[in-house]
Amino acid sequence: MAFSFISTTYIPARALLIYWPMKVILHLTSDCNLRCRYCYAPAKTAKNMSVATAKKAIDMALELGERSACVSYFGGEPLLHFDRIRELTAYALAQAKSLDKDMHFRMSTNGILFDQTSLAFCREHNILYAISLDGDKLAHDAQRIFADGTGSYDALDAKLDMILEYNPHAVFTSVITPPTASRLLSSVESMWSRGIRYFVMQPDYTHPDWGIEDLQRLEDSYLDLAGFYLEKIRAGQAFHFSLFDDKIKSHAHSPFAPGKVCDFGAKKVSVAPDGHIFPCVQFVSDRPDAKDFCIGHVERGMDSRREHLVAKNQQPRAQCVDCALNGRCSNFCGCLNWQTTGSILKVPGLLCAHERMLIPIADEIGNELWAEKNKTFLHKHYKDYENRFPYAFD
Ligand code: SF4
Ligand code: SF4
Repeated sequence: MAFSFISTTYIPARALLIYWPMKVILHLTSDCNLRCRYCYAPAKTAKNMSVATAKKAIDMALELGERSACVSYFGGEPLLHFDRIRELTAYALAQAKSLDKDMHFRMSTNGILFDQTSLAFCREHNILYAISLDGDKLAHDAQRIFADGTGSYDALDAKLDMILEYNPHAVFTSVITPPTASRLLSSVESMWSRGIRYFVMQPDYTHPDWGIEDLQRLEDSYLDLAGFYLEKIRAGQAFHFSLFDDKIKSHAHSPFAPGKVCDFGAKKVSVAPDGHIFPCVQFVSDRPDAKDFCIGHVERGMDSRREHLVAKNQQPRAQCVDCALNGRCSNFCGCLNWQTTGSILKVPGLLCAHERMLIPIADEIGNELWAEKNKTFLHKHYKDYENRFPYAFD
């Protein structure tokens, strides 16, 4: 068979659906200190979530979560409202305790506003955060800019040592665009040299400029990165690179399935600053058709559209039913499909081409390391799978 590293001691994926906490993503503000070129968030007018709205959303998560809930601070830029994060964290913990449930915290941030106080607070309350960094200075500054058009790399770089001192396991998320597709290796090398070990990368499928040559450049970059990945894993170093690791995982463990990975409103919802509820972060946007995906409001709870959308997202993707990669491909992501094609069920051609290019490269890595019985690889993808650091941030 094509993928010889399949485990004979199959370890089933964690029983995510049994104890998976109900997660609410609080869009604390639409405002941001940056103006990234690919940002899908609403216009940067200061629409802020009131404390009352946020508390109702937290109550809703605790009510719907069987044993636990997760509060994810999101924006715009959530650290613009650190005082609110402090207040809401205390509230969430107190409410969870009164109900004898667990409470978890996440945050997505551009990291620039981090200081000793907020970093210490995150560490103290186990707030797991993902920080946006698009690579080296050239790659980052191509997209992630301040309102005056200047790049934000230096501002974040000045905070990196402090961030990693508080949290050596901080996850860094990078968006790949056509202009940065050929810079991936130098970007990863630059981030690695700064001490970063947890990388989450994804192409911006909405970018209008992707062409055949860009995809070819991206493939060349992935092949170069495969060499870097093999070197680090063979040296026994912790290197977590989502693009390869997730595809290896989809072979080593249970395949993805619509509705199982992209939870889309069932166990995860986004709450807009005004309290309206959506199945995922992308729908909190200025796009006129986003309102068709509103599934409730914190004042009145979820409405019947939620059930309808959850069921719809679990349907097979028509164009994928006969594809050998179905189950390993990211075609399940309803919000990404909607962002690019206008339908949660219609997978964009660019994603299809990307997956056909990426999966064989990840499998080649897996094949090599499996054949070598590489200890780091086996530990990461088999033995210690249950305790692997979580990658999913939104
Ligand atoms: S940091 Fe995030 S919210 Fe702010 S402009 Fe960039 S992508 Fe948008
Ligand atoms: S590779 Fe293309 S056809 Fe195959 S599952 Fe993915 S999106 Fe569908």
